[in-house]
Amino acid sequence: MYIKDQVKKLTPYKPGKTVDEVKKELGLSEIIKLASNENPYGCSKRVGDELKNLSDYAIYPDGGGSVLRNSLTDLYQLAPEQFILGNGSDEVIQMISRAMLDSSKNTVMATPTFPQYKHNAVIEGAEVIEVPLVEGHHDLDAMARAVNKDTAVVWVCSPNNPTGVSISEKDLKGFLDQIPDSVLVVLDEAYYEYVTAEDYYDSLKLIESYSNLIVTRTFSKAYGLAGFRVGYGIAQPELIQSLEPVREPFNTNSLAQRAAAAALKDQSFILYCKEQNRIGIEKFERFCKEYGLNFFPSQGNFILVHFNQDADELFEALMKKGIITRSGQALGYPKSLRITIGTDEQVDKTLKAISEIISH
Ligand SMILES: *Cc1c(COP(=O)(O)O)cnc(C)c1O
Repeated sequence: MYIKDQVKKLTPYKPGKTVDEVKKELGLSEIIKLASNENPYGCSKRVGDELKNLSDYAIYPDGGGSVLRNSLTDLYQLAPEQFILGNGSDEVIQMISRAMLDSSKNTVMATPTFPQYKHNAVIEGAEVIEVPLVEGHHDLDAMARAVNKDTAVVWVCSPNNPTGVSISEKDLKGFLDQIPDSVLVVLDEAYYEYVTAEDYYDSLKLIESYSNLIVTRTFSKAYGLAGFRVGYGIAQPELIQSLEPVREPFNTNSLAQRAAAAALKDQSFILYCKEQNRIGIEKFERFCKEYGLNFFPSQGNFILVHFNQDADELFEALMKKGIITRSGQALGYPKSLRITIGTDEQVDKTLKAISEIISH
């Protein structure tokens, strides 16, 4: 059978152990999962209420996602034609890659950053140009310089996963001004709802001025709907139109569309999660300073802490105490852990467990 060369070289995504697997293996009754940046508070109660009323399971979803699209239109005060819905923002990344990348093109991104940009670019056969982060920040000037006549897409992640560092308005505008109109800039804002930085930009305003900009956001993080798989892209209508042909007709399912639309209407839940998250981050920062640990200042719902020792060993030690984090080994930071900010109680338990491990 013919398999594309570049696909043969890729390794499939390796999911972490499930909570039940870890419980069974270690004989623990309680597990705190802080590995995937899920919302520790779950989702808005409105979601459950909405889904109770759904029973049309035999019917295909609304391929245009009109209910969700209208909710997005209301919230952001943009036109319905400015959104493309995806089965997670992962799928929006895939659609962009499918529409714009092939073996005659290259694509520019930071490293380390969210791995799906590279993964999809490789599948499409495009050349990948990776520009190292500087202190957890995108090196936007170097990224702009890396763009050449064959560049089709530039990926920018802000706040960046796994470092949590966001980009300032001044830096982002300076960058966008250097990128030719013919090159797409993808601004991945999976953690947008958590950002508190005062120098953060208003990406929806930027879309008005830059026809080559698409912003991606998701219901998987602050909205607490990772299990439903819904994300979206926002751009000028012409750009969205050019992507629509690669979208599968029923890519977001009926339950997911309704759940997301209901969740959007509960902005007070999002605000609560944002505030709690900031309190948790500040607790982590104080702890790190007290214990002499370095970290990147995070605008997401996670923090990358540098331990100066093997991350896999720390990961194992924390798992034995019932806390699942993400080892930096596979993320480009072999001596760091990426830890999702849990509830206040989970943060306290995590910090206690870390202090016990590192003071041994
Ligand atoms: C979690 C995450 C996504 C993927 O979100 P889904 O909508 O669940 O596919 C995209 N980008 C970044 C940076 C993420 O951390």
